[in-house]
Amino acid sequence: MKLFKPLLVLCVVLGAPAVALALDDGNAAGAACGALGCGAMAIVYILIIAVSLAVPIAIIVVVIKFIRKDATARGMPNANSIKWLGLLGIIGLVIYLLQRPQGNVMPCPSCGQGRMQGLPACPNCGQP
Ligand SMILES: [Zn+2]
Repeated sequence: MKLFKPLLVLCVVLGAPAVALALDDGNAAGAACGALGCGAMAIVYILIIAVSLAVPIAIIVVVIKFIRKDATARGMPNANSIKWLGLLGIIGLVIYLLQRPQGNVMPCPSCGQGRMQGLPACPNCGQP
């Protein structure tokens, strides 16, 4: 977010003359140029908003997928519901990492998915 602040200030500084040109009735070329500037600034604003929404959403999706896969590999019976801790983002990931069953996760010899050592059966394929 700190990265976008100077960019927003730059957009306002560059966008204000474009708006002034666009609103000038007596200067058709200037108005066209200003309108183009307004359009370019609008695209920059939309890109800033899209990126500032997309990055946290991508982080949440990655965390939810990681928690579901890791909780399944550790044999947690609530793996499909505890994954929603990922909606809290990095905080949810820290909470999950602190409370999950501790142990090494190794690839299962049968299915190749993650499986915590010491489990009586693979939580993914059911093989002992
Ligand atoms: Zn397996």
